[in-house]
Amino acid sequence: MSPDPTTCARQDLHYLPSDLPVFSCKECGLVIALQDELCSKGFTGGSGKAFLMNSTVNTNLGKQDERRLLTGKHTCADLLCASCGSSLGWKYIKTPTAEQKYKENRFILEQAKVVKENNW
Ligand SMILES: [Zn+2]
Repeated sequence: MSPDPTTCARQDLHYLPSDLPVFSCKECGLVIALQDELCSKGFTGGSGKAFLMNSTVNTNLGKQDERRLLTGKHTCADLLCASCGSSLGWKYIKTPTAEQKYKENRFILEQAKVVKENNW
């Protein structure tokens, strides 16, 4: 028996408990990160302020490439909303120095691309 192609192709969307503070996609409102996963607020994205996140949900990774950022040459991949495909920021794949290694496998969410929902 082969697996049902319709269930395999379906993006595995996550629905989080509604009482947790989250970040949502500005375009479609899909939950994309728990505010608890916020690592640092002091980052700058392409459009201004950005958050460094330990994890995200409901996101896809786009093209991976090398980018020259303020802090050196990084390998990053675009972070895309799994529902509407809008660009939310990027994921750090590889950083140039040991001091910056903590950013690897973490995610930048551009503040302008997300909505902060407190749910209280
Ligand atoms: Zn979206």
